[in-house]
Amino acid sequence: MSSNYSGYMGKVMAVDLTTETVSEYQWTDEQRELYIGGKIMAARILADHLTGKETAFSEDNWVIISTGPLTGTGAPSSARFNISALSPQTGILASSNCGGSFGMYLKRAGYDALILKGKCKSKRWLEIKEDQFIFHDAEADGLWGTKTGECQEKLVELIGKKTFGKLCIGPAGENLVKYSAIVSDERAAGRTGLGAVLGWKNLKAITASGTKLTPIHDKEQTSQWIKKWVSYLQAHPLTGKQLPKMGTAGLVSSMQMRSILSTRNSSAGQFEDFEKISGERLAEEFNITNKGCVSCPIRCARTVTVHEKSVKGPELETLVLLGSNIGNNDMQSILDWNYQLDELGMDTISTAGTIAWAMEANEKGLWDNGLSFGKIDNIAQIFDDIAHRRGIGDELAEGTKRLSEKYGGKEFAIHSKGLELSAYEPRRAVGQGLGYAVSNRGGCHLNGGYMVIMEGLGLNIDSQTPKSKADFTMMFQNLMEMISASGQCLFTSYAFFPAFLLEKPNSLVVKLVNFAAPHIGWALRLINKFPRMCALHLPMFHHTKMFPYAVGMKMDFGRYMEIGERGYNLERMINNRFGITAANDKLPKRLTDVPQDPKHPETKVPLETMKKTYYKARGWDKNGIPTEKTLRRLKIK
Ligand code: SF4
Repeated sequence: MSSNYSGYMGKVMAVDLTTETVSEYQWTDEQRELYIGGKIMAARILADHLTGKETAFSEDNWVIISTGPLTGTGAPSSARFNISALSPQTGILASSNCGGSFGMYLKRAGYDALILKGKCKSKRWLEIKEDQFIFHDAEADGLWGTKTGECQEKLVELIGKKTFGKLCIGPAGENLVKYSAIVSDERAAGRTGLGAVLGWKNLKAITASGTKLTPIHDKEQTSQWIKKWVSYLQAHPLTGKQLPKMGTAGLVSSMQMRSILSTRNSSAGQFEDFEKISGERLAEEFNITNKGCVSCPIRCARTVTVHEKSVKGPELETLVLLGSNIGNNDMQSILDWNYQLDELGMDTISTAGTIAWAMEANEKGLWDNGLSFGKIDNIAQIFDDIAHRRGIGDELAEGTKRLSEKYGGKEFAIHSKGLELSAYEPRRAVGQGLGYAVSNRGGCHLNGGYMVIMEGLGLNIDSQTPKSKADFTMMFQNLMEMISASGQCLFTSYAFFPAFLLEKPNSLVVKLVNFAAPHIGWALRLINKFPRMCALHLPMFHHTKMFPYAVGMKMDFGRYMEIGERGYNLERMINNRFGITAANDKLPKRLTDVPQDPKHPETKVPLETMKKTYYKARGWDKNGIPTEKTLRRLKIK
């Protein structure tokens, strides 16, 4: 079904892996207006399909691979694509976003999204060449059993050219490790274990190629706006300086200063050797060069040298969780493991979180597993054992939640809804704590709204107060939901904060903003409740104007936020079907009941207080379920 809008290729394809047949899935312009693309589109498709009885490893667990309308338009940082399905880690809706080039090439093949149904009868890989969908034998072609780097090199040989999009799983996905990743080029859809879903479906890899171009509504206006936007991003202190210079790794020192650097399984927020794992050290001593995804002026990725090979360097999450959070100050080991985990196809965050929990469980005498904080000589072997499910690796492959249910130690099992938390220790950034607990995909900083940027990493509002945190969280979650659905990288949102707020942290204006922010919850609530009041374009938020220019779709800030809100509620509604209620929006007791600093009893997450306000702001009932009124307002029902 073609589209009257530009930005879209106009086709969503349903691929039945069992019968190896393909058909078009009906997706209308009205649905494009309401659900845009990426993760929101995926949520709508899955909401129409899932009943609440399916499991991650079942034939009716559809995998949706979707792009956004801005992918392929040249908009800054717009090469992202999304993968959604039920997660083997959490049992609820998963969505994982990835850079690389697959999204762009899927559109070149002529498709906005793929729906993978069923299960291959033998080990297969899928080649998409415009209207041809060709299934190949992954064993005969030597792909099954390979690591992600080798698999992608072999795909280049098999396809016979270099310019095409590819994604694949590694040994971890094949062996159903619960936190397996899907890798595309050097980027990973790391979170929520979707690599294991492809592994269960016997699908090792997908390639896409073609010659079709994403249609653009008004080429002249689009290109002028992109130029303006790129200049803005390059002049901004975060997207033009910090991220290109140090990537996200540049945040380690600030996190130490704010006591939010997860240390020894989040038992502390500061690490005595933080300088040894800092972004500054990485930039100065480890042969860093910049790299970026297609069409990205920010270029936050870095390459480092591992075994004399130039490979992707670690991001902040990996540095912290494989550094301070397991008591490790050895930078080279983190670089080596980061590469090893990408090759095995494992999420670095959940792998590291599981290891940290296991170290503490061993030290507390709950599980004799040979792991201890700061002892790193056996870690590389353990990673390999997890990916191949050998020895204790087979148990570690199940993740923190299941291990703590088996051995005890739930109070220090640092996860939410089964997904291990990211690198920010939330007892000194309580809004981030709320975000982790209510996030639709489990303990994720980004899906949780990334409040920590206001609580010390960009601005410096009171990080202990619950005031306004629920309303800010809701607003940021909605915004990020929509940025992601458009096909853009969330880092473009960093430039939302005017440069002067970041460059002069001690100025009177900034002090005033920091002081006022916890008191403006009522105003945010009003905007959140009636987003259409903001029927305008904001000067520092360039995203909205790309829609009329590139897609030919009406858009303003209010509409943009409302679509994000629709996506967030739709995802919640799916999760409700799988039993998620207020009782599941929780954090381990260590974070809610034990002060980080015993001399300051307020240094813990006042979760229940913030949850109440959050549900109210969202239009959910006390049990955390969107009310009929909310669903009707958002045209979900
Ligand atoms: S900011 Fe970084 S992750 Fe985002 S698109 Fe650019 S290079 Fe990729």
